[in-house]
Amino acid sequence: MSKHQKKNKSRNFLPLQPQNNIAPLFFSRFRDGYLLTNQLRDYIFLSVREFQDFLDNKIDHHTNKDLYNILIKKSFIINSSEETFISESASKLRKLSAPLFIGTTLHIFVVTLQCTQKCIYCQAAQDPKKPTYMQSSTVNAAVDIVMQSPAMHLTIEFQGGEPLLNFPIICKIIERVEILAPKFDKKISFVLINNFTAMTDEKFSYLLQHNVSICTSLDGPKALHDKNRPYLKSSFDEVLFWTKKINHIYKEKNIQKKLNALPTITKHSLKYPDEIIDTYIKLGFDSLSVRYLSPFGRAQQDWLTIGYSAEEFIQFYQKILARIIELNLDGVSFQESFATMLVQKAIAKKPINFMELRSPCGAAIGQIAYDWNGDIYTCDEGRMLGIVKDYSFRIGNVFENTYTDCVNSNTSSMMVTASCIESHPDCSDCVYSPFCGICPIYNYTQHKSLFGYMSSDYRCNILKGMFTSVFNLLTSKEEHVRNIVSSWASAQVNESQ
Ligand code: SF4
Ligand code: SF4
Repeated sequence: MSKHQKKNKSRNFLPLQPQNNIAPLFFSRFRDGYLLTNQLRDYIFLSVREFQDFLDNKIDHHTNKDLYNILIKKSFIINSSEETFISESASKLRKLSAPLFIGTTLHIFVVTLQCTQKCIYCQAAQDPKKPTYMQSSTVNAAVDIVMQSPAMHLTIEFQGGEPLLNFPIICKIIERVEILAPKFDKKISFVLINNFTAMTDEKFSYLLQHNVSICTSLDGPKALHDKNRPYLKSSFDEVLFWTKKINHIYKEKNIQKKLNALPTITKHSLKYPDEIIDTYIKLGFDSLSVRYLSPFGRAQQDWLTIGYSAEEFIQFYQKILARIIELNLDGVSFQESFATMLVQKAIAKKPINFMELRSPCGAAIGQIAYDWNGDIYTCDEGRMLGIVKDYSFRIGNVFENTYTDCVNSNTSSMMVTASCIESHPDCSDCVYSPFCGICPIYNYTQHKSLFGYMSSDYRCNILKGMFTSVFNLLTSKEEHVRNIVSSWASAQVNESQ
């Protein structure tokens, strides 16, 4: 260890050290060595000896040419002037951060809170007797606001409750957007999130005609799915029926669309990593996105029955990744979205716009949620707090405000400030910070502070475990594992997951 490091033992960040040709970097003990990362989303695993030589400026093209060249290529060693390095890095960083500069791309329409199911982890449950349907006048005002976003490519997502219970309003939104989009020079993608219990042939045919992508929930094999998502009949059977039918129609009509599905992981799911993947493959999906359960809404009330520790979740996640690698080695193409996104950030340097893992996060400047009654929120999670009459994240109303009012509101500014990972005391020197993101709403619900306390935080421990699991594979001593995981850099990834 250098003198500098001994003095700053608790910090895991090294600022620019031109005298030693060392670029700014994050580091952490990792297995039997060190993991190094930097803001340009490069990473490298070094043995203890290599790390010491690196810090002591003892790696050069005479002593260890290969490692020296890799360290230059990955921007850990500077071999140009300080000014050139800073200007080149700034331009790379700007490209990686491109999604931050394009305006709000994701517009979520909550067309009703009514639902057909009673999922055990639901965050949106409300009084089923109170009618909560979006009205036509709300649609017109909301779509006008959507068109005010400076982003050229917009995604309109239909959410609920079960959105198909207010199908006429979905049609009205689609048709109004189709009229206005060409006038404002916008390209539009539509996505419907639904549980298939209210799908019919007529509705599907309309959705197909209007190029609407479909995403559903699938928690795993029938017994597990039905336990998590109770319905009058088997909710799994509905998913099975429509998945088969839709995939068949896409194939028959040669439609280049993919049906997507998301599992929510409860305590009941932890025993079935292989079975969950096998169900996805059997139903024709080629990826899944493992989402940890957040202790909000009904999930919080029933945490003892359905929740788990960060360690339990990470063990499950590692089994999922191990199974996927096994399948990939057997020639089956299948990915997990979080791992794929991380690999794409680290290897392909894609400017991934996943709202929770960017800095600042997507609240208001990346996504906006329009509630059934016209209230506008920073994001869908902020909107869900509105159901329990906490309006902290409401940034306007479609009848009273413009897009600019909403994005310039004090609440939106506060969310941007609170989700800048570079300035968070616990995150600013974390080796995973170039890939991670802060969720102020999670912090608000768990810690009563938008800034949170990462060292004791459940979400942070889960994310740290997920990052560690993927970097373990990316830096594995087994070449075939490294090759398989690196190949995910070119897979298709659904950022809305
Ligand atoms: S949230 Fe946790 S894992 Fe993410 S950067 Fe902060 S400290 Fe690191
Ligand atoms: S506040 Fe949380 S849920 Fe909302 S956009 Fe930011 S990260 Fe996502």
